[in-house]
Amino acid sequence: RARKRFGQNFLHDHGVINRILRAVHAKPDQHLVEIGPGQGAITEGLLDSGARLDVIELDKDLHPLLMARFGLNPQFALHRGDALKFDFASLVNSDEKLRIVGNLPYNISTPLMFHLLQQSDCIEDMHFMLQKEVVQRLAAQAGDNHYGRLGIMVQYHCRVEYLFDVGPGAFNPPPKVDSSIVRLIPHAQPPHPADDPACLEQLVRAAFSQRRKTLRNTLKGLLDSDAISAEGIDPVLRPEQIDLAGFVRLANRLARQRN
Ligand code: SAM
Repeated sequence: RARKRFGQNFLHDHGVINRILRAVHAKPDQHLVEIGPGQGAITEGLLDSGARLDVIELDKDLHPLLMARFGLNPQFALHRGDALKFDFASLVNSDEKLRIVGNLPYNISTPLMFHLLQQSDCIEDMHFMLQKEVVQRLAAQAGDNHYGRLGIMVQYHCRVEYLFDVGPGAFNPPPKVDSSIVRLIPHAQPPHPADDPACLEQLVRAAFSQRRKTLRNTLKGLLDSDAISAEGIDPVLRPEQIDLAGFVRLANRLARQRN
């Protein structure tokens, strides 16, 4: 019954479901949003906490099932549509913040995270089930194997906590890859603020566009060797050796150079 087009792999392992619920640890006065509730595997436990819960589900075949299971609960609301286009800020009352939860469809996980990061002012935290490799990339530090653009840009906005792995057998149908649970906590202030976040985005994209090249080469046309050295960074290092603070210094120089 699961539809591949919607990235559907439904959780059925109660041990895993309970571990996710314990990690989220929802409380009655909180406001949660679940992305892609599917048949409600996590939804039920989230509602049991007494928290308010909005869910966003794209597959219209699942809407009657979700309404039959949870529709009578006054804390529950179903939004029929695409989470990628959803205005999360519209759910917020006064100064509360949203807690986002989702066993995400893996085909849209990266654009969805960036969509949420743009609205992170109204978000307390996010708990996601993602492909294990994506979580490794999110949590990677300079010098690690999976370090690159995704991790740097997400860590610019959030603290990343790699929680635990989930094998394919926990799902029906089992996905082809291992999965992991990650917690993202948006920073109140970025620890390394970029003067122009668009410059950071452009610089990091350029730096990782060609693997195994030196900074001097990948940043050609943006910053020359002298400019890189002036920020205390050796231009013959490779991008995967530069930490977030280093990229922000380079981006701020690029921004100044343009003004
Ligand atoms: N949370 C359920 C579970 O753990 O069993 C379902 C997880 S399944 C991996 C992903 C869910 O996201 C499916 O129910 C799918 O229909 C839904 N979905 C896919 N694309 C979506 C989108 N763009 N917006 C909202 N929901 C989406």
